[in-house]
Amino acid sequence: MSVKDDLEARSGSTCELCTGTNNLEVFEVEPVSISGVDSSILACETCRTQIEDPEQMDANHWRCLNDSMWSEYDSVKVVAWRMLSRLKSEGWPKDLLDMMYLEPEVLDWAKATGEGLAEADKIIHRDVNGVILENGDSVVLVKDLKIKGSSQVAKQGTAVRRISLDRENAEYIEGKVGPTMMVIITKYVKKI
Ligand SMILES: [Zn+2]
Repeated sequence: MSVKDDLEARSGSTCELCTGTNNLEVFEVEPVSISGVDSSILACETCRTQIEDPEQMDANHWRCLNDSMWSEYDSVKVVAWRMLSRLKSEGWPKDLLDMMYLEPEVLDWAKATGEGLAEADKIIHRDVNGVILENGDSVVLVKDLKIKGSSQVAKQGTAVRRISLDRENAEYIEGKVGPTMMVIITKYVKKI
């Protein structure tokens, strides 16, 4: 069975946030270390669009979280928590957030993307041109870099695919240069 099949089975083929049925797809709840049912939800197009593009947010749509925040699945709760945090200024989402209880490790997961924090408190990774980097992006090195613990040099222009961001430090990302996993400073990379 695919992840989508599993999610359809657990949700009865409805959006796990709003119970809509419009163009349901698997939505992976970032950051994803292992793809699978536990780190995904089934979400309709309306929900997915608004999660991904805050500009298209229709606060009233998210009244659905009143129900879905009580889901038995952590991945659903995490998305509910993030959307309520994003909408906090509306008032009612704040009341729902106050009622919500997440296990400590689930709360850590919910907070991992910086949702609900003031913009200034977020850890944002930017490349040499100031472009925001995200987990899974590909970058190229803009200068030769010594590979720590070896005599080798990673050449300028080398592509590093599927980087991961250091969650505590906005200056560091991690990625594979050839076979070697290395920590790279963001100002030495350019997003491609
Ligand atoms: Zn939905």
